[in-house]
This record gives sequence, structure tokens and C-alpha cells, in this order.
Amino acid sequence: MSELFEKSLGEIAGLLQSGEVKAVDAVTSCIERIEATEPRVQALLTVMKDEALQQAEAMDAEGPDAEKALWGVPIVLKDLLAAKGTKTTCASKILENFVPFYDATAVTKLREAGAIIIGKANMDEFAMGSSTENSAYMKTLNPWDLDRVPGGSSGGSGATVAAGQCYAALGTDTGGSIRLPASFCGIVGLKPTYGRISRFGLIAYGSSLDQIGPMTRNVEDSARLLQVMAGHDPKDSTSVDVPVPDYLAALGRESLEGVTIGLPEEYWGEGLDEEVEQACRDAVKKMEELGAKTVPVKLALTDYAIATYYIIAMAEASSNLSRFDGVRFGHRNMEAEELIDMYTSSRTEGFGDEVQRRIIIGTYVLSSGYYDAYYNKAAKVRRLLREDFEKAFEQCDIIAGPVCPTTAFKAGEKADPLQMYLMDIFTISCNLAGLPGMSLPVGLGKDSEMPVGLQFMGPAFSEDVMLSVAECLERNIDPMPMPKL
Ligand code: GLN
Repeated sequence: MSELFEKSLGEIAGLLQSGEVKAVDAVTSCIERIEATEPRVQALLTVMKDEALQQAEAMDAEGPDAEKALWGVPIVLKDLLAAKGTKTTCASKILENFVPFYDATAVTKLREAGAIIIGKANMDEFAMGSSTENSAYMKTLNPWDLDRVPGGSSGGSGATVAAGQCYAALGTDTGGSIRLPASFCGIVGLKPTYGRISRFGLIAYGSSLDQIGPMTRNVEDSARLLQVMAGHDPKDSTSVDVPVPDYLAALGRESLEGVTIGLPEEYWGEGLDEEVEQACRDAVKKMEELGAKTVPVKLALTDYAIATYYIIAMAEASSNLSRFDGVRFGHRNMEAEELIDMYTSSRTEGFGDEVQRRIIIGTYVLSSGYYDAYYNKAAKVRRLLREDFEKAFEQCDIIAGPVCPTTAFKAGEKADPLQMYLMDIFTISCNLAGLPGMSLPVGLGKDSEMPVGLQFMGPAFSEDVMLSVAECLERNIDPMPMPKL
């Protein structure tokens, strides 16, 4: 019999509802797994052991509630999502002691659905990075190979799910931070359409790009979480008031007959590692066997996506992070005698190198002399990129390509920030265009023996279609095992 921690979220939710498993047992199995694996994986900045057990006991006393889709299910949050009464650090020294007095809307919705929050996951500081090496506290390692990174910035969320420490985690994706760690850790990650899930309580990095999304061990579990979290929120003016479809009902299609899949030339050519290409092509072939039609499409501006993204994301970051000034929020240098010294020294001590680099570049591209040359230009390219997608979606229902040119790389391998930025080449366009994207594990690379993720991208609010295509493929390929830890 498999251990409790090996169950999917859907399975454990069923066992909890039927009373076969108590909420306390579900939490205990996760805590035991955390205690056994955390010294090696280092995925969690906070483990809420006592609080989670107490909550589970109280819930067990009342008994399961069929109205609550996640009743008793232990879930982990990326440490930039506000959870009332729990430290929320963004993996930064500047927020070392920040305890929010409210929950993010997505967290409120999880709790209302009966989920038990058991921990806060490590990440790149303020979600800036692709490897989780930029955390001010510790480096998370990939459960498949402890010499390798889990991807980033939601690397703690990816690793904790892959290691079986919880049944699902929330990540955020500004330029790929859900999809990349999902790909590197062999799990499913979904970045919804911009506005699909409220960002209230998500500590902002690039506000026009950020989205919260689920990271799970299968597609159905992502659908379950999306169902709970999607919807309009008056506390986030960018959350969109469009009906939330029944994502679970969309799953289970027999074939991919009638589905046209676009393959962007720019994603399948030069620079792509052979093992990644092979695993992804095999998956596409499987989709063709299942009845899908494939067509080549063009996303001609892909080459400009990295420059465009990094100008916009850094500009927004420089503005968003100005609130951490030692007065309103965050660490304060108590020795400084003058106000300006206090600001400067608090921020210098509180922010890590990558964050400082981005604040400086972001401030530069927004400065009056350079605004038109950089920020405005990037905003224009962003619009053109969006139009490229619109044209592509005239020819296909969904786009498929790799998530990343490589599988998980070795820790310390990408010391040059530009090398790190290049990891985002296939994921950032989707954020610039505000579209939904996801990563589905499709096998192990033949050389590295590390997981490979296939990426899907769809038109705005097509999560139901995307999930249904991914689930059909998932059901027809070898299941992704859990890493041997
Ligand atoms: N790697 C990208 C960056 O560093 C994306 C991060 C993210 O999606 N949060 O900005």
C-alpha cells in the first residue's frame, strides 16, 4: 500500500471526506515527511506544525463537510502570500519579522474550502530569479537530484510538492516562476490568465505580470485548486469579473479530436537541449495519436521578449519595492542619525544583490531622460507580442512548446545574472500577454534523467480547455513517479 504522503490531492480529499483518514492523520503524515526530507531539500521557511495540528483536531471534532472541496487537505504557500499571523518574508531580510494581520484572498478561499496551511515555502527574494538561489535564507535543492536547483522563483513550492511534504502548494508567476519549478521538479504548475485569481495579499513584484497559481502532482489537482481560487475580488481592481467555469467537469475527454495545437517555430529550434526537445516532441506525437491536429505558428517577437520583460518587470519592481523603507515596512537601521541615511542603510542591509540590481535598473528605465527610450518602447513591444499571440490563436486552440531549454541545472552553475535571465525565454511572453500557461511533466530527459515539462499556452480564460488537453495527454503517457528521496 502506498504511504499517505504519496496520494494525490484528489485522493486524500476523498479519503478525508469519507472519514477513512482524519485531518490529523493527513497533517501528521506531511509533518513526518517534512521532518524526514527537509534537512536535504530545504523547501520551507516556516513549518506551522502546532497550528496545523490544532486546526486539524478542531476539524476532526466537527467531522467532514461535503461542501468544502479541500476539507482537511494540507497545503503550502509561497512565502510572499500573506497568511494572517504567520511570518511572510518574501525570502528577504527586509521582511524578516513581517507578520501580516490579514490573509491574501487566495488564502482566504483555500481556508474557506477547508484547506489547512502547513508551511511557507522558500523562494527567490521577492520572486526575482529562476533557481531559488536568491533567497536570503537558504538554497532549496531539487528532490530529484540534490546537486541541482528546483527552478524558481517558486522553487520551494515546487520542491515541497515533489518531495511529498504536502498535497499542493501555491506559487506565483511573473515571468515563469510557477512553470519553471514545476518543469524542473516534475510536477504540474498552472499560471492562470491575468486577473483570474485575486492578487490581494500577494506581495507585488511586477503588478501587471504577477499571478497566483497552483502547483500539484497532477492536472486534476490543479483544476481543483483553480476552482476554489478563481473569481472576482473587490479588493483587487485587476481581478476580472467573468464567470468561473467548472474546471473539473472539463476534464476526462476521450481524445484530442477537434483540438488544434500550435507549435511556435521559435520555441522548437536553436538553443533547445536535445533531451528536452525529444521528450517534448514525443508528447506532441502522442497528442497527434490522440487525434489532435498540429500546425506551425509564429511568435516572431520571441527574441525581444527577455529584454521587454526585464525592462517592465524591473520598472514595476522599483516602484513596488519603494514601500520597504524602514518606516512603513521592513527592517530599519537603528543607528542611522539622519532620515536619508536611515532609508539608505536600511534598504542596503535589507535587500540582497539581485533585488538591488533590479531596483537600480528599474529606476533608471523610468527616469525622465530614459523613460521613452526604454519603458515606453518596451510597453509598445509588449502590445505587439500580444498581437502575435492573437494571430497565432486564429490558427490554433492551444500552443505547445518546452517550458525551458534545459532540465534543472546544477546549483551555482549560473552565476552570471544574464545567463539566469535566459532561462525564462519560453515563459515570459505569456505573462507579457496576460495569458494562461501551464507546465505538464512529460518524462525524464535521456541524459540528465531529470524531469522535462511541456508548456501549454492558451487564449485568455481558456484554462478549462488547457487543463482538459493536458489531462488527456497526462492520462495517456507514463505517470511521473515521485523522486526517490
Ligand atoms: N525569472 C524571472 C525573474 O526573475 C521570473 C520570476 C517570476 O516569475 N517571479 O524575474
